[in-house]
Amino acid sequence: MLGFATVAQATANTVLVVAGERLARYGFGAGHPFGTDRHDAFWREFNRRGLQLRTLVEEPRAATAEELQRFHSAEYVEEVRQKSRDGQGWLDSGDTPAYPGVFEDASTVVGAALGASEALMTGRARRAFIPIAGLHHAARHRAAGFCVFNDIGVVMETLLREGGLQRVGYVDIDAHHGDGVFYGFETDPRVIFADLHEDGRHLYPGTGAEAETGRGPAIGTKLNIPLPAGADDAVFAQHWPRVLAHLRAFAPEFIVLQCGADSVAGDPITHLAWTAESHRRAARDLGALADELGHGRVLALGGGGYNRGNLATAWNNVVEALIDG
Ligand SMILES: [Zn+2]
Repeated sequence: MLGFATVAQATANTVLVVAGERLARYGFGAGHPFGTDRHDAFWREFNRRGLQLRTLVEEPRAATAEELQRFHSAEYVEEVRQKSRDGQGWLDSGDTPAYPGVFEDASTVVGAALGASEALMTGRARRAFIPIAGLHHAARHRAAGFCVFNDIGVVMETLLREGGLQRVGYVDIDAHHGDGVFYGFETDPRVIFADLHEDGRHLYPGTGAEAETGRGPAIGTKLNIPLPAGADDAVFAQHWPRVLAHLRAFAPEFIVLQCGADSVAGDPITHLAWTAESHRRAARDLGALADELGHGRVLALGGGGYNRGNLATAWNNVVEALIDG
């Protein structure tokens, strides 16, 4: 899908969607909630809505070991490489199985996010979306909750270290707390973090209390909003302005949206209950905020979501909002 024609079409208004067969490979097989059919569920609806005609679609590249180590420890990267060769066992304590090629597939998710962030930084695209990405549970030293490498963490470190940015924003509307991102940057005041999630007293990973606002020099740069089971569009609308105000106060130079669809009513493993219209609103408002801040950069990442119909609707609403916003 790459080539002179598509590159020539890219303009300042382009919405880039990174997708395709290589990205679709990241998943844990038939019957696992994070199966490889999630990409195709998104893709069918994307084409049904004609969005392939309104976006620039590109295949991902794989991240290099050097890039992975901007966030992850060298020991952990090597451990994943080894378990991927062995092709069996667990990458954590029982949620995230190793399989042959998981190293390459997880590296491709990170490469997709790096490629999209580069496109936003160089102005080749105005906004970007990646369906299989936003693996927010992976920690610097370990896998967790279906997440092998944390593409968000690698992008943040890259923007701050290599991209010369002073502040990056992160908004997470997945039903689960983005603990890999939160604890990965808990003491870093340059990462402006806001996370709406189901209360950790009732749902994995059990973190993200309101009192967790960052540590040391980062106190006050993190906003955690735990919500009760059953929280609907009205509850989302009640709390969402706090997220926007938090980001606006710190004026981040780049905004990542983790738009996990497991917060939409009907997910098989969570208990939040808003509609995919809240996902549309999140993407629209963050696009408007990014424009207001003068750079326009929004990178939206699919994250979780285990009801295939919900993820198809929610993620394509996000793409439409990025196009229209
Ligand atoms: Zn989730």
